[in-house]
Amino acid sequence: MSTLYDKLAEQALAGAAPTEDQARQVIEDESLRLLPLLDAAFRVREEHFGREVIIHVLNNVQNGLCPEDCGYCSQNKDSEAPIRKYPMKSDEEIFAEAEAAAKDGASRYCMVLSGRGPTLERTKKLAQLVRDLKSKYPVDVCISAGIIDDEKAKILGDAGLDRLNHNLNTSEAHYNEVTSTHTYADRVATLRAANKFGIGTCSGLIVGMGEGTDDLIEVAFRLRELEVPSIPVNFFIPIDGTQVSPDGSLTPEHCLRVLCLMRFVNPSAEIRMAGGREGNLRHMQPLGLYPANSLFVEGYLTTRGDASRETYQMIADAGFTISGNSDYDGPLPETNAFRLPGPLGDLLKPDVAAQS
Ligand code: SF4
Repeated sequence: MSTLYDKLAEQALAGAAPTEDQARQVIEDESLRLLPLLDAAFRVREEHFGREVIIHVLNNVQNGLCPEDCGYCSQNKDSEAPIRKYPMKSDEEIFAEAEAAAKDGASRYCMVLSGRGPTLERTKKLAQLVRDLKSKYPVDVCISAGIIDDEKAKILGDAGLDRLNHNLNTSEAHYNEVTSTHTYADRVATLRAANKFGIGTCSGLIVGMGEGTDDLIEVAFRLRELEVPSIPVNFFIPIDGTQVSPDGSLTPEHCLRVLCLMRFVNPSAEIRMAGGREGNLRHMQPLGLYPANSLFVEGYLTTRGDASRETYQMIADAGFTISGNSDYDGPLPETNAFRLPGPLGDLLKPDVAAQS
């Protein structure tokens, strides 16, 4: 008799979604054990992506100065978080950062601009940047710039933009709890505009903002309905001075179950273990590679994260490989390296080391 683990994997391998009841079990049913669940999700991940992990680097090309009130975001208009606010970086800075990302092994370079959405003039400038970046570096280019309409999507699509990010963040029913200055419908319309003009979409969620299982299921299925090929799963990072508080749900096991849910509902999508992985999954992070097949390195928009070097070590140790690009010239982890945190050379305890 086939188990629910088998059913979840086989349905997803056939491209079918789980039932709502099965999706609820993935999140809530404690009799559904974590390791077999991860293995079922891994069967699906392996079919579509093998053991490769796609590396993304974020560049916050404009920070703060935002008129919107997304309560989880340190850049919102009411935020008291002590962040440095700056207008759009110069082209020189953006090119230098893209080059560094390519050399550091990133296959995707994501430019993120705070704000409700770009003006027409700003959109044209972004389109030119996309052309220039793609001609110089072997990375796909993604932009996250807020709400985009058809006219702007066409300009960016014509420039060859690979992906437009616009996260749904949570369910429609829960959306007003975190933002009031724009609607869920605005977000969905942006994704539809990108789809219409041939830009791949990237849209995900933030887990741990007071949502329930119904909300998680709804957003997972909405992303499936919108055929989103890239889904960042963020785990709430509590930043002092912002309005959303942690809801206490983010145990490492809950984070892993949400990643499994996203994989079963969106079998062929790039599922990203995104912001907050370090602080919320903690020592369970490597298990996230079983449902997820991509990561950010070197931190997020305004918060720190693991450096590429330690993330690459984790990937290698867990038996996965980095989906590289031809410019990557950095070191890969040595599989037999013995490594402790702290300065190099501090292997011996100070009270037994010979004095130099
Ligand atoms: S998430 Fe984007 S739109 Fe919302 S407050 Fe932050 S920068 Fe502004």
